[in-house]
Amino acid sequence: MLETVDFYREVLDNLYDGIFFVDKDGTITYWNKGAAKLTGYSASDVLDRSYCDIFKPLDKHGNQLCVFDACPIRKVLDSATLTEVEAYICHKEGHLLPISIRIAPVREVGQHFVIAVEIYSGNSPRYVMRQRLEELQEMAMHDPLTGIANRRFVEINITARLEELKRYGFPFAVVFIDIDHFKVINDTHGHAVGDRILRMVSATLANSLRSFDIIGRWGGEEFVILLINVKQSDLLKLSDRFLRLVEKSTLTMDNGETMSATVSIGATLARVGDATDTLMARADKLMYESKRRGRNMVSVGQDQV
Ligand code: GH3
Ligand code: MG
Ligand code: MG
Repeated sequence: MLETVDFYREVLDNLYDGIFFVDKDGTITYWNKGAAKLTGYSASDVLDRSYCDIFKPLDKHGNQLCVFDACPIRKVLDSATLTEVEAYICHKEGHLLPISIRIAPVREVGQHFVIAVEIYSGNSPRYVMRQRLEELQEMAMHDPLTGIANRRFVEINITARLEELKRYGFPFAVVFIDIDHFKVINDTHGHAVGDRILRMVSATLANSLRSFDIIGRWGGEEFVILLINVKQSDLLKLSDRFLRLVEKSTLTMDNGETMSATVSIGATLARVGDATDTLMARADKLMYESKRRGRNMVSVGQDQV
């Protein structure tokens, strides 16, 4: 039992985002490394102290959050529903830190009520992804089936990146990804399973990117990734990684049967003289080269930059 507790503690300690637990009085009972990194307070600074006293959280207008019954943690204690709040907390060095707090429903552990509170700052990759998704939804640039950006969003970004390349020499690459024999998947298992495969592949790809890279659905079973600031020598390695990660993604269907998909990839650096159509045509041609070579392959353009 102790080993299990230690294992979970180890996992929690190493999570990127901050996590802490409070008991029903708002006293901090657990504090992970991520929380220490984010706030500047070590576990010994905060354990057994009231979280409201230490952080004096403010709402986005600068008003105290924890006055009387307004404390979000206290509200979760009463309602037992998951709550998300945007707030400012006071860093140990004194400055205000914009954070998101996710307060999980109350759990009873032994005789104690415990609330898990997850905090993340504006530069955590998960936070960036969420923000980005909300922005895309607002601008109608998101693909409803897969939840990633749509073609319009990718096109707008390619235009902007080509301009940056021309003016400042910032390199980027296009990775064109097409699912292999997708028609067979649809024909054999039905359109609904096809849709689940599309979601699985896009989620695997989206989760394997750096926060500043861009992914969108280009067409039916085609995805485009823009890799920002990459070198020719990274291109094969990164594309190959996408291929392997997709190959290892496995969908378990209702009847217990498992399914995977493979992709064919074409990847190329943008060139100074490129327009969107010349760049995309090159990536598409390289992708077809991978199909021709037998599928589940990567073909990379040979620019020397
Ligand atoms: P290849 O390996 O040469 O790429 O073969 P493929 O079967 O993947 O290529 P093809 O272009 O012939 O088939 C693509 C299929 O994708 C046909 C189309 O019905 C299907 N498709 C397009 N959009 C969707 C969608 O939103 N959901 C589902 N389930 N299928 C889709
Ligand atoms: Mg296709
Ligand atoms: Mg295909």
